[in-house]
Amino acid sequence: MQPLDEKDIRRSFVNCSKGEASRIRMPAGFAEGTIPWADLDFLGWTDPGAPLRALLVLPGEDGPTGVVLRRPEAYKPSTLRSSMCRICLTDHTASGVALFVAPLAGAAGRNGNTVGEYLCADLACSLYLRGKRQPKMRLVRREETLTLQERIDRAMVNLAAFTNRVVAG
Ligand SMILES: [Zn+2]
Repeated sequence: MQPLDEKDIRRSFVNCSKGEASRIRMPAGFAEGTIPWADLDFLGWTDPGAPLRALLVLPGEDGPTGVVLRRPEAYKPSTLRSSMCRICLTDHTASGVALFVAPLAGAAGRNGNTVGEYLCADLACSLYLRGKRQPKMRLVRREETLTLQERIDRAMVNLAAFTNRVVAG
């Protein structure tokens, strides 16, 4: 993806107040210019100042779309059925995947309505797809006949479907 500046990122969030958007802290390496933009299909990070808050910013033709996510505080592995990221379809051990919950945009979100999805816990789907990061324990890999670009496209379709549900409110 093309590098984004901080102003574009803060302006992109669709499901939080301007005040909350202004308090979000940029990912590690952002100020230092070490974000590997060329290897990213979207920017995903945990707020360094608020560990239960995670952020996703997707590039788009009309500018980036940002979504604020909450990471559930209590982790209960016994209730976690999926160990596969629903976005990039990387297989993880249970702790490698987390259920993230996003308030819906607008009034629906202010009334407490949310939508949830299982994602790579570190939001590094782009790096797993490219083999630049490996799941902690290599599980039996499903044979994939798709090319890297096809798998990236599939992940972005999945992610857009999720963010569209947030934006729709
Ligand atoms: Zn993933």
